[in-house]
Amino acid sequence: MSILNNQTVIDAARKVGFDLIGFSEFCMLAGEIENLKKWLQKDYHAGMKYMENNLDKKADISLILPEVRSVISLGINYYKDDKFSGLKNKGKVSRYAWGKDYHFVIWEKIDELIQNLKKIDAEFKAVSYVDTGPVMDKMWAVKSGLGWQGKNTNIISKEIGSWFFIANILCNRTFDYSIPETDFCGKCTACMDACPTGAITEPYIIDSNRCISYLTIENKNDISEKFKNKFDNWIFGCDICQDVCPWNIKFAVETKSPDFSKIQNKEIDLNQIMTMTNSEFKEKFFESPIMRAKLKGLKRNGEFLSK
Ligand code: SF4
Ligand code: SF4
Repeated sequence: MSILNNQTVIDAARKVGFDLIGFSEFCMLAGEIENLKKWLQKDYHAGMKYMENNLDKKADISLILPEVRSVISLGINYYKDDKFSGLKNKGKVSRYAWGKDYHFVIWEKIDELIQNLKKIDAEFKAVSYVDTGPVMDKMWAVKSGLGWQGKNTNIISKEIGSWFFIANILCNRTFDYSIPETDFCGKCTACMDACPTGAITEPYIIDSNRCISYLTIENKNDISEKFKNKFDNWIFGCDICQDVCPWNIKFAVETKSPDFSKIQNKEIDLNQIMTMTNSEFKEKFFESPIMRAKLKGLKRNGEFLSK
């Protein structure tokens, strides 16, 4: 029996700032990987070819950590209640990117958490992932009971809605395991009805080729004219399918994390971006997820919105 138990981990995770904590037992992700393969075969990952990599590790996380017994799933709320100006020359930024890049924030918190757990249990072995790497982060979050996967494909917590980041720690210890949450989407189709580009092709399935979030961030090509006037002034990402979700409308609460409380880039001035130099871009966005789109991508998006 490990000296680490659920409560020790929960207390330590809360102490470094995580809001949601759940535990799942190691297993193969057989059904999940089949669904991922079907999605990839339809080319719904668009230009994100890296998603085809490491399917073996995604299915079997013991190929990453041979001693793995459990996954500790963590969520951190980033919700800030603020409105856009509605001005035509201000491109809207997805809420997750209003502040500091979450990878930096969460990596630091996880490092601290793992170090603290190792002080209690020197033999504790862990590998962590935040949104990158060969781990199906949402699937483990569901197994660990953080929430259910909504029809918009986000994980929804009954307590705080879907405005939270997910991290997972694979580890060599056993716990009492969480019960996965019921799917409370029911008959609701608000996200599907509101998506302006028809990207939610069926419940729980997104075609990235049509998703504003993909088209404005990961996409390296021009944006098709067929989406003209459908972007609702989003220049980086898109929050429409989360904004309309009744679970967010009713249950979203302001983040307690100082790193996500400070709003730095809620809107981007379209005129300013068109004349911005690379060094100005790096200076303005150096700690922001907006770096991901690169200046070239933002200029393309700005041009597309201004057409
Ligand atoms: S992020 Fe925007 S474009 Fe993508 S599925 Fe949601 S509403 Fe549609
Ligand atoms: S808007 Fe409705 S269908 Fe979509 S994720 Fe939220 S509850 Fe589910």
